[in-house]
Amino acid sequence: MIRISTLASSSKGNSAVISTGNTHLLIDTGISALRIRKGLDECGLNIKQIDGIFYTHEHSDHLCGLGVLAKKDVLNIYCSRYLARDLRAIAPTAKLNYIEPGSTIEVGDITVTPIAVSHDAADPLGYLFQHKESKLGYITDTGRITRGMNNLLSGVNALYLESNYDPRMLQESGRPYDIIERISGDWGHLSNEQAAEVVTKVAHENLRHIILGHISPECNTPELALKSMQTTVQELGLATQVCVAPQGNRLNWVEI
Ligand SMILES: [Zn+2]
Ligand SMILES: [Zn+2]
Repeated sequence: MIRISTLASSSKGNSAVISTGNTHLLIDTGISALRIRKGLDECGLNIKQIDGIFYTHEHSDHLCGLGVLAKKDVLNIYCSRYLARDLRAIAPTAKLNYIEPGSTIEVGDITVTPIAVSHDAADPLGYLFQHKESKLGYITDTGRITRGMNNLLSGVNALYLESNYDPRMLQESGRPYDIIERISGDWGHLSNEQAAEVVTKVAHENLRHIILGHISPECNTPELALKSMQTTVQELGLATQVCVAPQGNRLNWVEI
């Protein structure tokens, strides 16, 4: 069994924990080191037990806790080669492992496959995590659905998926035109409708859990995102459980 807990999930900060009981991974460190340590404590873990930190990309809401975390502990980091150049300066003592889409990495009893996504960052990544028969997809910060996503996510039993904005709320948000264009463009974020499109493409009867994440506090609501995905799941005739990752606190373990 593999399980996932999110420590925070929104445009204001993202971090998640994946565990098989033997191997424990972090995805992103976009909240303070203090909050990461507290969240890990709530998971029954501590940072010394983390076998690897997988980064999606360099934006602050995915990275900002790293500098302080790396001051006390030697971290084992997996990231794209471009991102590694930035991380070398932020975490000089960390062990950096370069990864790229198409490769697979074994960390303990978890097999990790990086997935290319489309975002205005250096080589941004999503991930497929596999332990025995359990497969978990983790997709955040992508403006469109890539071919790699469709192929690699097609057999997942659980999916953590960005559902960033409601198009109408974004248009009426009062934000500058160029920001609206950025968020809704091919290198931005997934709307509730695009998240539903991802699920429509990869859904199958063993897709048991969908966790919606990175919900914009200004341009979406958890209720809208949840309703949109629940409607899609019903239309597909699936019994998939849908939940929303809380923005500022921890989502209890979802077991896959
Ligand atoms: Zn983000
Ligand atoms: Zn981003």
